[in-house]
Amino acid sequence: MNCMLCSKLFQEYLDNTLSEELIHELNLHMEHCSRCRVFFRTYSLTVTLSRKVEQPCCPSEETMERLTALLCDKLCSLHGKRP
Ligand SMILES: [Zn+2]
Repeated sequence: MNCMLCSKLFQEYLDNTLSEELIHELNLHMEHCSRCRVFFRTYSLTVTLSRKVEQPCCPSEETMERLTALLCDKLCSLHGKRP
């Protein structure tokens, strides 16, 4: 087991699709490799968090309208309306 392989297995590890043997090797590697440990923690946290978000992050209609108005304003002041 090396770091490359280890990081490639994280997704499967979290999906519970790894064989017991590979899980064992993964754990063994992480015991000795602090880099992979930290990486795995960050990785699993990211995956867990993104799974908790049910709706995709998209702005509401109101926000979009305000954003569009703001952009129009900016564009108008950049072009045309300059003294
Ligand atoms: Zn490693």
